[in-house]
Amino acid sequence: MKRKGILFVISGPSGVGKGTIREALLEKISDIEVSISATTRPPRPGEVHGKDYFFLSGEEFKKMIAEDKFLEWANVYQNFYGTPRDFVIKNLEQGKDVLLEIDIQGAMQVKNKMPEGVFIFIYPPDIQTLAERLCNRGKDSKESIERRLAACAEELRHVKYYDYVVVNDELEWAVKKTEAIIIAERCKIKNIELEVV
Ligand code: 5GP
Repeated sequence: MKRKGILFVISGPSGVGKGTIREALLEKISDIEVSISATTRPPRPGEVHGKDYFFLSGEEFKKMIAEDKFLEWANVYQNFYGTPRDFVIKNLEQGKDVLLEIDIQGAMQVKNKMPEGVFIFIYPPDIQTLAERLCNRGKDSKESIERRLAACAEELRHVKYYDYVVVNDELEWAVKKTEAIIIAERCKIKNIELEVV
């Protein structure tokens, strides 16, 4: 029987470094398909439609919801984000591994639908470091940072629903741990096709 692809979900609170870990990971692991999310958030300078995100209007996003085109979607700090379903399903069926980097609400939806996925929670070393990261990346207003930190305590409680936790205290080490999880999952007996001689 052909091996089915493995779905890897990287998730965690805002500012924890999920995106940075994903980018560093992709330098090391190339044979994985990265899902491109749809969002109603406007592009940041340098972001490209179809590469970083599919940048949609509110109407376009709603239409995709109505047509059941999302595997999951969520309102994340006043913008909508969603994972297009077909890309994920098609690649998994073709035996290719797929990587999602999404927020915790979205990850919980995916967990309900595809519990066989591998759920990796990126955890902050402490709230103070998270607050500093949110301030230093310069993407968010003071109010927005306060909202994100307030949500964080509740979000961290969801760690128990995940398969793995990676504390992002040091980037290189966090990437190494995430890579090790992917390699180990790929070595699981249930995930390999073995020739019987
Ligand atoms: P940003 O706007 O900074 O790129 O992303 C904001 C948040 O949205 C991050 O926590 C990111 O992981 C999350 N996100 C990105 N794409 C998706 C998605 O398709 N679904 C969900 N639920 N969250 C997403």
